[in-house]
Amino acid sequence: MVLLWGACLPPPALAADPGSAADATPPLRDYAIDMWTSRNGLPHNSLRAIAQTPEGHLWFATWEGLVRYNGLDFIVYDRGSTPGLLDNGVGALHVDSDGALWISDSRGNVLRRALDGRWDGWPRQAPAPEVLIQAMRKDSKGRLWLLYEGRGLGYLSADGEFVFEPPPPGVPMGMTHTWMEVDAQDRVWVGTLDGLVVRGTDGVLRRVPDDYGLSHGVVWPYRAPDGVLWIVADGALYRLQGDRPQLVRRLPGITHATAMLQDRHGDLWLGTENQGLFRVGNHGVEHMPDARMPPRGRIVSLLEDAEGSIWAGANGGLYRLRETLFSSYTHSDGLSGDYARALLEDDRGRLWIGGASGLDRMERDGRIAPVPLRNRAGKPPSILSLARDGAGDVWAGTFGDGVFRIAAGSDRVSRFDAADGLPGGNVRVMAADHGGHGVWLGTQRGVVRIEDGRVQVPATPGLPTGLVTALYSADDALWIGTIEGVRVLRDDGVQRLALDELGGGRSVFGFLQIGNAMWIASDRGLYRYRDGKLARVGLEQGMPVDTVFQMVPDRLGNVWISSNRGVLRTDMRALEDVADGRSPKLAVEHYNEIDGMSNAQANGSTGPSALLRRDGTFWVATAGGVSTVDPLRLLRFRERLPPPAVIEGVSVDGVPVRWQGTQRNSLPGGRRVTVDYVGLSYLMSDRIRYRTWLEGLDKGWIERGGQRSVEFLGLPPGDYTLHISAAHPGGHWSGSGAAWSFTVEPRLWQRRDVQAGAVVLLLLALVALYRYLIHRHETRSTRLAQQVAERTADLREQAERLLAANQEKAALAERLREQADAFERQAHEDPLTGLPNRRAFDEGLARDFARSQRSGQPLCLVALDIDHFKRVNDTWSHSVGDQVLREVARLLAASSRDSDLPARLGGEEFALLLNDTTLEEAELVCMRLRGLFHSQRSWAGIDDLRVTFSAGLALLGPGDRTPTLLFQRADKALYQAKSEGRDRICLG
Ligand code: GH3
Ligand code: MG
Ligand code: MG
Repeated sequence: MVLLWGACLPPPALAADPGSAADATPPLRDYAIDMWTSRNGLPHNSLRAIAQTPEGHLWFATWEGLVRYNGLDFIVYDRGSTPGLLDNGVGALHVDSDGALWISDSRGNVLRRALDGRWDGWPRQAPAPEVLIQAMRKDSKGRLWLLYEGRGLGYLSADGEFVFEPPPPGVPMGMTHTWMEVDAQDRVWVGTLDGLVVRGTDGVLRRVPDDYGLSHGVVWPYRAPDGVLWIVADGALYRLQGDRPQLVRRLPGITHATAMLQDRHGDLWLGTENQGLFRVGNHGVEHMPDARMPPRGRIVSLLEDAEGSIWAGANGGLYRLRETLFSSYTHSDGLSGDYARALLEDDRGRLWIGGASGLDRMERDGRIAPVPLRNRAGKPPSILSLARDGAGDVWAGTFGDGVFRIAAGSDRVSRFDAADGLPGGNVRVMAADHGGHGVWLGTQRGVVRIEDGRVQVPATPGLPTGLVTALYSADDALWIGTIEGVRVLRDDGVQRLALDELGGGRSVFGFLQIGNAMWIASDRGLYRYRDGKLARVGLEQGMPVDTVFQMVPDRLGNVWISSNRGVLRTDMRALEDVADGRSPKLAVEHYNEIDGMSNAQANGSTGPSALLRRDGTFWVATAGGVSTVDPLRLLRFRERLPPPAVIEGVSVDGVPVRWQGTQRNSLPGGRRVTVDYVGLSYLMSDRIRYRTWLEGLDKGWIERGGQRSVEFLGLPPGDYTLHISAAHPGGHWSGSGAAWSFTVEPRLWQRRDVQAGAVVLLLLALVALYRYLIHRHETRSTRLAQQVAERTADLREQAERLLAANQEKAALAERLREQADAFERQAHEDPLTGLPNRRAFDEGLARDFARSQRSGQPLCLVALDIDHFKRVNDTWSHSVGDQVLREVARLLAASSRDSDLPARLGGEEFALLLNDTTLEEAELVCMRLRGLFHSQRSWAGIDDLRVTFSAGLALLGPGDRTPTLLFQRADKALYQAKSEGRDRICLG
């Protein structure tokens, strides 16, 4: 193939621009392809034309109407809509230099939608044919050139007149499948199925001369944004140089171009009749594989939008090619299989990729070739792990075929398996000795080591004996991850790290040493072990997933973390802040298929499954190939312009109102105002954030999240301007944003004069109310004073009555108390003699008996009986007897001390209780009493009367358990005194 590219033609449009890596033409694999059909809301599957107006809306021409797209909804304009079309079959779209969108239809009508939203129409006028207008282009004189299907050229003049120019005989216009471009000299170029036609500056339409070298086959003209006119004909690409086409390059295999586009990188995209989409430029001629972009008939329209996405309208649907952050390599790029598990970069910068279908190696130029490893069955082994030892040899651990070693330089392969002493089963992870030549293998039965070609099984107690899922050789230790936490093997033994005590981590998938910290990826997030202390960053701290496999910091301060659910990115510093507790929550970005990963499921428990290459790119092995991201590219994605915000509709009380960006609407008060808006970005449209600011009410911006409409109810009268701006997640806010100004008119009660009248009425009412209240207050006061005086008199009377009753009660109580005293006395006093009676004596005896027993003091009891008293009665009368008894009592009382108890027990019987008195003292008392009786000259005034007594004396002794027994002894002694002749004292 002969190429004039760059040698004789260095066209700026197609020259390789050696700009920054971020601006370079991305490989086709870096485009994610999305697709829409009538199932997703398009009114028809054939997209004849695509245009974007300056505010950002995308417009599609279909047979069932004009479609406006905002990234979320397809709005269809047709004969039934407002504004309506003249015909549903839309033919072509053209955006002129004023930003107006021109729309043609299948009956020769033309419409224009101005940038401010106004619509105008030019219904077809004779002699313009009533056929499909296939293409529209404006020239420098303001003429809108129209290509009528099968009929030829015409134009709509700047005055709105249709002019039709039937083609001269012999000029091939009577065919379908044509296209038209207008060049800088207002020449009109028309590509037909039968060669190229041009309307020259002389106004004559003719075939291009034969010496142009173009055949009479299908020709497609295209005027690029930079003004260059390209022509595809005869399977080659031409560029118009002056008046003549110059061959730029052959396009082998491309026959019928049906759409063209030059993108911002300068590359040309070609849509074809039935071969899909091609790109011609820095990477040569590339075909978008059918597997990625399933053929859907002819590609009839192409557009690059303001964000750099390529839109392709086909007969069978709409495609969008979106540049992604991640690139991916799969089986279709040369990998042996899509299930990748382990990655390794060797000394020469080559990438080794191990997976279920074997081992591949990607050269530095991107070529991928299998490494010929064979197991005993002669098949490529399933690779689980890769490692590079100190000598540069690459080791590959397998599912069931042991371990392969590929010698550096010679690529000589040797193999170790059960015959060499290796445990059977998986070798899921490996780690080369730090600085040495040994390699550690993580097997299903613990770790083994291969050094100098010999397999050694370490026997240090505490090493795991089951499945090993992660290995890391650090300066002084081997870190071993299992499904039951971490073991660290050092010279002095094995240490166990209990992850589960902090957040419940059990399975360990990766280690990474940074400084003196070891980071551990687990099924409960990331752990950091430093200075004997564990810290954790998991779900609670903002990680979007529990299980993470590998953590890879890059050179720009990002850290990339692989997981089953895609790749996470955060800042290393932020991660440390959360681990240190300085910050509560980690901000994490989450990438998956939307971002260009061929499969979001990264692989873990084998590996290394993610790594940073020497060129600074991050790579990850997934269940669907290998994905990579250049962190530099991330910067460019971050700097993406914010989506322009536009107002899509305004309604008052649910009724749409006409509004213009510049014109202030006037609204009656008390209405519900609803404003719908959108951010016109087509990348992750549903993740755009919004904020609004109602100037005149709000103090500043109010964030609305993903909310795409805002409603105001009961706005006070005044002037307002609603501002709206939008932002990508994590991006900047759009600066000026959209704005709509309106005035809310006051309601009746909000008018000044009505308010003033209301104030006067209110004041009058207040005065009346005041006077009424004063009057009512005075009446009530008088009545109250009367009531108080009456009540006071009543109360005083009642108090006096109560006082008298109280005094009466006190006197009564005093009398009762005196009577009670008298009764009490009578109950204990002998009425004849005034001595204590029998009851008083019994109580005194019981009391003194108990006291004497407690104190041990002596107690004596004397029982006395008057001798022959009956004779006194009989001789001198009973009243003399009573008088004698009173005198006996006086003598008895007289000879008693205070502590003694004299008593009349009944009749002529007396008793004397002597406390603290010995028997001798008591005898003396008795004898003295007897002396008193003897020395009494007269009794009851009768001189001859002699009275004596007999007495029994008893001292309380240990045998007297009760007062009665003591009394009985005294009584017995009395009886003895009687029987011994009376007038004597006997001891009991
Ligand atoms: P003895 O030396 O054996 O005690 O002979 P006595 O007469 O004193 O004994 P007795 O018990 O037979 O008689 C007691 C008499 O005391 C009988 C009774 O009439 C008389 N008497 C009892 N109580 C009173 C009283 O209150 N007044 C008078 N005047 N006599 C009384
Ligand atoms: Mg007696
Ligand atoms: Mg007697």
